[in-house]
Amino acid sequence: MKPRTSFLVVIVLGLALAARDVTQAQQPGRGPADHPSVTVKGQTYTPASILARNMGTTQDQETQFPPHKIVGNIYYVGTKTLSSFLIVTPQGNILIDSTYERNVPTIQKSVEQLGFKFSDIKILLGNHAHGDHQEGDAAVKTLTGAQVMAMAEDVPALQAMKPGGKDHPIDKILHDGESVTLGGTTLVAHLTAGHTRGGTTWTAKAQESGKTYDVVFFCSLRAGGAITPAIAAELDHSFKVVRALPCDVPLGDHPAQYNMHAKYARIQDGANPFIDKANCLAEADIQEAMYHAVLDEQQKAAHP
Ligand SMILES: [Zn+2]
Repeated sequence: MKPRTSFLVVIVLGLALAARDVTQAQQPGRGPADHPSVTVKGQTYTPASILARNMGTTQDQETQFPPHKIVGNIYYVGTKTLSSFLIVTPQGNILIDSTYERNVPTIQKSVEQLGFKFSDIKILLGNHAHGDHQEGDAAVKTLTGAQVMAMAEDVPALQAMKPGGKDHPIDKILHDGESVTLGGTTLVAHLTAGHTRGGTTWTAKAQESGKTYDVVFFCSLRAGGAITPAIAAELDHSFKVVRALPCDVPLGDHPAQYNMHAKYARIQDGANPFIDKANCLAEADIQEAMYHAVLDEQQKAAHP
């Protein structure tokens, strides 16, 4: 499809969707649609079911999940459905995702239960500029003095995130491919836009039992509303990027994306359940199938 044609399709589609009231946009008090559905590895998903799986109940979003070691110097300190990761180094620690501001005391408790000091967090990173992942940044900064780093393309959305009127702290702006190093651990920021303009997939290497593992902190790749040509271009690029990343340990901004609850249940069984190369692309497969199904539905709505 030529760019101009697709632009027209988007306009017609926007009108069609608004008229039929089936927009997938998440408006206040209303979630995404319960269609289209895709089946991946025998499981059927809709946009609504994926959101429900990711978020759980309000209580799930706020309830501490037992903090635990994932691999090497990487730990889980989030809630039942909102991930927060701690990377521990001899020169201080890195936190990925503060989640909602009201969860910051829970994250602090998890860090301390693991035997670390919250004030040792020197760098705060984010997965993407939505409140369920980064609303607590200002609170974490106040408690720890951490340097807050953000992907350039997410800066406007982060600046608009002002819990209690507080400015969103941003101490350093990152660009695609840039790395962040502290105490011998390096995290690389890969721009994987589409869900937000600056959605970031982080990669790191972790050492455990004499072996080195590639750890990937995947990012949501779900269009939040109608898929414009610009968003489609971002998602096409992002799926290529994530499919090319070396990966032994898949993680995600929501625990359901990497089956954390089931893996955690096997933590004492011997082999580290989080080392799961076979399932590194399981979530990308679901998200990419859904992306194409939503695009198809949009195009059919535009050309009934
Ligand atoms: Zn999001």
